[in-house]
Amino acid sequence: MKYCAFCGKEIESETKFCPHCGEEIEKDTFGFSSNQKAKKTSKNYQLETILGILAIIFSVLNYLGVIFVHLVGIVLGSIVLSLVNKDKKEDNTYSQVGYVTGIIGLVLGIAAVIIGVMLA
Ligand SMILES: [Zn+2]
Repeated sequence: MKYCAFCGKEIESETKFCPHCGEEIEKDTFGFSSNQKAKKTSKNYQLETILGILAIIFSVLNYLGVIFVHLVGIVLGSIVLSLVNKDKKEDNTYSQVGYVTGIIGLVLGIAAVIIGVMLA
């Protein structure tokens, strides 16, 4: 059973117009789902940007003498890149800042691991 998104009353699934308020059902359902998608995309967009910047910060902290934080940088960088790849496949809307900072954070973190191994 479907419900009208405008007045909230119960309607038949096959009907195109709500018998209670007369609004077009299909049009509204479509608008609702694309709104949801836009929300999700912008949420990921911010997440990618923030995590990418954090990935760099954590990796750089290791070069400043804080131990093990580069591992967090690597994890965050990997998460950002997987989010970006997923968004790229879905609708090609992703954070370029998140993408670039994620790669830099990941590379810096891995470099810190290699340097750590060489110095050990
Ligand atoms: Zn209605």
